[in-house]
Amino acid sequence: MHATAPAPVRFRGIVCRHCNRPVRRPASLVVRENIVKQAEPNLTQQWGSRIFPLRCKTCGRESIYALDQIDSFADAQNLAL
Ligand SMILES: [Zn+2]
Repeated sequence: MHATAPAPVRFRGIVCRHCNRPVRRPASLVVRENIVKQAEPNLTQQWGSRIFPLRCKTCGRESIYALDQIDSFADAQNLAL
């Protein structure tokens, strides 16, 4: 038997391409994705339909990300970046 370490708090999010901090995925992701489809048809064609804008709460800069980039992260308090 081995002790099980307490699971860290995890959330789904994206790594900010400006400051490399994880950004929590917004609940309004689906709505925003539809906005991107209407506003940026060329980007949608290039990257597929699974892209969305996301503003980083750490550095305040917004970029376009793909749903494929969403990953699980430990809570920010546990990160040593
Ligand atoms: Zn950032």
